[in-house]
Amino acid sequence: MIPLVKPSITSKEIAYVEDAIRNGWGAQCYDYIFKFQRQFQDYIGSPYALATSSCTGALHLALASLDIKRGDEVLVPEISWIASAGAVVQTGATPVFVDVLPDSWCIDPSKAEKAITERTKAIMPVHLYGNLAEMDEIEDLAKRHKLHIIEDAAEALGSEYKGEKVGSIGNFGAFSFHGTKTATTGEGGMLVTRNGDLNRMAGILNDNGRIPEEKRPFFQHYTGFKYKISNLQAAMGCAQMDRIEELVSRKREIFALYQRRLGDVSYVSMNPEQEGSRNSYWMPTVIFGEQIQIDRDLLMEKLKEYGIITRPFFYPLSMLPMFENQPSNEVAWSLHTRGLNLPSFFEMTEDQVEEVCDTLLKLIP
Ligand SMILES: *Cc1c(COP(=O)(O)O)cnc(C)c1O
Repeated sequence: MIPLVKPSITSKEIAYVEDAIRNGWGAQCYDYIFKFQRQFQDYIGSPYALATSSCTGALHLALASLDIKRGDEVLVPEISWIASAGAVVQTGATPVFVDVLPDSWCIDPSKAEKAITERTKAIMPVHLYGNLAEMDEIEDLAKRHKLHIIEDAAEALGSEYKGEKVGSIGNFGAFSFHGTKTATTGEGGMLVTRNGDLNRMAGILNDNGRIPEEKRPFFQHYTGFKYKISNLQAAMGCAQMDRIEELVSRKREIFALYQRRLGDVSYVSMNPEQEGSRNSYWMPTVIFGEQIQIDRDLLMEKLKEYGIITRPFFYPLSMLPMFENQPSNEVAWSLHTRGLNLPSFFEMTEDQVEEVCDTLLKLIP
């Protein structure tokens, strides 16, 4: 059996979590959380990082800290995991779905600009499967239209856009440590910003609205939320951050192995890496060209019979029953039936990559 993803757990993760569970109480109860945040700041190159219980929570905190609320609109790519849009809906604002680019599958900046109205307050680029959203164009349109940028970098820990780590570029960046992601704490997230005031507001809202200067216990100044990570999870996060270079490198090595076998197949395209950028390839993805007829779901079933677990490309978000269908987002609506995520995990061997490629090519007519 070749799973889609699997975390890499070494004796380091186990030792840190054991230390946290034995000693991380009382005065030490935040030690691993603070350490995890510092390590993350250093890695991303951002002065502030707030560890959270999930990326979904981090996105909600980011939007709330920017005072995004009912009546506002936020531009979200038509292709993403539901959490990107869900966090917007949680604030009462409306997600406006924008089509994606055909090569990177990330938000199309020129179509985003056309979707701007007087209610638009923010844009949320998603660095899909490790791919890079067009941040120069997005920053440019955000400046001209006075929009906030919230990067959903859940799938792109370690990706770099023109020398900068993604997530550190917008007003806020959010990351996930869910068990499927490149680095994991089981469940967990991180919210980063370069702005001290925004970081302070996110921290207050994440502490149920308590401001740090308030001397009276139980006297909150806001109604907030609580998306905190536990010290136990943060301990695991510290070990994963100690190993982050090797975790990201292995993703890149596995992608290179896939590319060697599949890169020249005329009817297949894979995750791109724009010039001057570095893709962390969270999920090696193949898109089958429109010139061949492939029943993607049947292909997945057959691969499973060979013990190979794959995952379908995301649905266009506007296709989900909570939203109004927007088939005019035609790139996204065309991609979703033709895309497949392939297995990649730290311990995956070259032989296993070969097996996936051989089986895939055998099953395609
Ligand atoms: C995984 C993911 C999230 C949510 O992460 P959680 O930590 O599970 O809340 C958000 N956005 C994208 C694009 C993701 O892939």
